[in-house]
Amino acid sequence: MGWSERQRAMLQEIGIRLWAPAADPQAADLPAAPTTEPDASADGAVATPAAGGAPVVRGPRAVGVETMDWVRLRQAVADCTACKLCGGRRQTVFGVGHERAHWMIVGEAPGEQEDREGEPFVGKSGQLLDNMLRAIGLTRGEATPERQVYIANTLKCRPPGNRNPEPEELAQCEPFLIRQVALVQPRIILAMGRYAVQSLLRSNEPIGRLRGRVHRYQGVPLIVTYHPAYLLRNLDDKAKAWDDLCLAVATAAATP
Ligand code: URA
Repeated sequence: MGWSERQRAMLQEIGIRLWAPAADPQAADLPAAPTTEPDASADGAVATPAAGGAPVVRGPRAVGVETMDWVRLRQAVADCTACKLCGGRRQTVFGVGHERAHWMIVGEAPGEQEDREGEPFVGKSGQLLDNMLRAIGLTRGEATPERQVYIANTLKCRPPGNRNPEPEELAQCEPFLIRQVALVQPRIILAMGRYAVQSLLRSNEPIGRLRGRVHRYQGVPLIVTYHPAYLLRNLDDKAKAWDDLCLAVATAAATP
């Protein structure tokens, strides 16, 4: 539909945001992260309806993410209004674990429970993740950097109804994850699920084609595996996930 500038301004005033049709995240490569929304107003602010109905003013993502320390990064994530997910979140879900962990786990996006509690992977899939980690001697609880992992998601805000992340949301959030990886400097990254893999490796290949070998992200060895939520529905693939964990253990052990 072709809206005139005046109609667009009016719709924005009453909190209705016009979106370009979402690209198929399966088919499209991730775009380079824009510094501001492509259709943001001159000062970068856009109104988008919040879960409760009141419009949330959106703005450009914080600048200088690539040099932030943990405190500033956490604050920048908490304050972020760079994509429309800010309108529906209870809180951002930053990440949890040892700040110099040898192992970094990257999932997709917070679900309802994570949005409520502010911690990644606290729902059913989180219980499975904790069991998987325990099986190889790792934990999210307090421990040494060898044993305590760092867990983060590609998106820091919950997509409504747990829908799939959209390319623009992944692109806006990506600098935060890049900085988390740079600060943690893990020896191994375990990427769980299609969107984590798509975001980190810029690949649309299915998990089944990417697992079983060592990839690299920012120079760090990266192992691809199934998302715990998928494993809860596809019990037969748990054996493959175990193989992935074993590959990750061997790779981490061989990484100085
Ligand atoms: N799934 C994810 O990928 N991350 C979470 O934090 C919860 C569920």
